Amino acid sequence: MSVMKILKDIDLSKFTSFSIGGKAKYLIYIEKEEEINQFFNFVKEKKMEYFVLGNGTNTIFDDKGYNGIIVRLVTNYINFLDPYTIEVSAGVDLSKFILTCLENNLKGYEKMLGIPGTVGGAIRGNAGSKGQEIKDNLISVKFYHNRELKTYYNEDCEFFYRESIFKNLKNVIILSAKFQLEPGDKNILLKEAKRIVDERNRKFPLHLPNVGCFFKNPIIQKDILPKNISKKVVQNYDDEKLKISAAWLIENVGLKGYKLNDVGVSNKHALFLVNYGNAKFSDVINLMNLIKDKVYKKFSICLEPEVELLYNKS
Ligand SMILES: Cc1cc2nc3c(=O)[nH]c(=O)nc-3n(C[C@H](O)[C@H](O)[C@H](O)COP(=O)(O)OP(=O)(O)OC[C@H]3O[C@@H](n4cnc5c(N)ncnc54)[C@H](O)[C@@H]3O)c2cc1C
Repeated sequence: MSVMKILKDIDLSKFTSFSIGGKAKYLIYIEKEEEINQFFNFVKEKKMEYFVLGNGTNTIFDDKGYNGIIVRLVTNYINFLDPYTIEVSAGVDLSKFILTCLENNLKGYEKMLGIPGTVGGAIRGNAGSKGQEIKDNLISVKFYHNRELKTYYNEDCEFFYRESIFKNLKNVIILSAKFQLEPGDKNILLKEAKRIVDERNRKFPLHLPNVGCFFKNPIIQKDILPKNISKKVVQNYDDEKLKISAAWLIENVGLKGYKLNDVGVSNKHALFLVNYGNAKFSDVINLMNLIKDKVYKKFSICLEPEVELLYNKS
C-alpha cells in the first residue's frame, strides 16, 4: 500500500511563485489517489482545515502562515484513452500536458503553453491565454467534495472567464480530468506555441517573483461602458458584455511601476505585482486596495483579484 508523505512546519514561501508566506503546520504529499483516504483521516484526527496547493503560481500566503494542513497532489499520469482522448491527473504540470498534446499532433491548447501551474489549478481557475481556455476541450472532472467522490461533465462545471464551480465549493480536491482534442499538425502547433512562449518571455516580468495577472480583466454590460475608457482596450465578451483590459486601467491611474515597500506594480506589465525581495503580505493587500480605489474612483469599475489570497485569520 502506498503511504502519503507528511512534512512538518514548512516554510510556505518556498512553495509559491511570489515567494512569501509564513509557516504551515503540515504539508502532505499525495502521490497516488489511493492515499486520499489516509489524508481525510489525518484531517479528521488533527481537526484542522486544509488547503490544496498546486504549483503555487496563483496563490499568496500570509506572512503569519496558514493554520492548517497544506495538501499537494503530486499524482503524475497522462493516459491516452484513444488517439484524441486523454485522462490527466491534477498534479501534472499544465505545460507537460500541453507538450504531450502537441507531440501527439493534438491541437486546442497550443496558445496556453507557458502558463505555469498544474492541471488541477488550471481547472479550478479556468486558466487561459490568447483566446484558449482549459474548459475548451475538457470533457469531465473527477474530484472529491467533502470526502465524496464525484464526476462533473463540462456543462456542470460552470466555467467562464477565470471561474468555475470549484472556486465556489469548499473542500474540493480535483483528482483528474478527461480531455478530447482535435487533430493538428505537430510542427505547426509547436511553432505557434513557441511564438506565444517567446511573446510571454518578452512581455512578462519573469525575472522577479510574481503570480501572473493579479486582477481579472473586468467584464461589464455593454451599455454601461464608462466614456473615459478607450475603445481600443475593450473587446466583446459575449452579445451583452465587454471585457476591459485591467492593465490599461492600472496604467491610466498612473500606477505602472509604482512601488510600496518591496511590492510593486511591474513597469513591464501593469497587471503583474512583483516582489522586489522582501515583500510583506500586508504590502500586497495595501497595494491591491490602492489600485482598486484609484481605478474605482476614475472609472467606476471594481477590479477583482484573480489570485488566491490566503489571509491568516488568527
Ligand atoms: C509568470 C506567470 C504567468 C501566468 N500566466 C497565466 C496565464 O496566461 N493565464 C492564466 O490563466 N493564468 C496564468 N498564471 C496564473 C497561474 O499560473 C494559473 O492560475 C494556474 O492555473 C495556477 O495553477 P497552480 O497549480 O499554480 O495553482 P495554485 O496557485 O497552487 O492554486 C490556485 C488555486 O487552485 C486551487 N487548486 C490547485 N490545485 C487544485 C486541485 N487539485 N484541486 C482543487 N483545487 C486546487 C488552490 O487551492 C488555489 O485555490 C500565470 C502565473 C505566473 C506566475
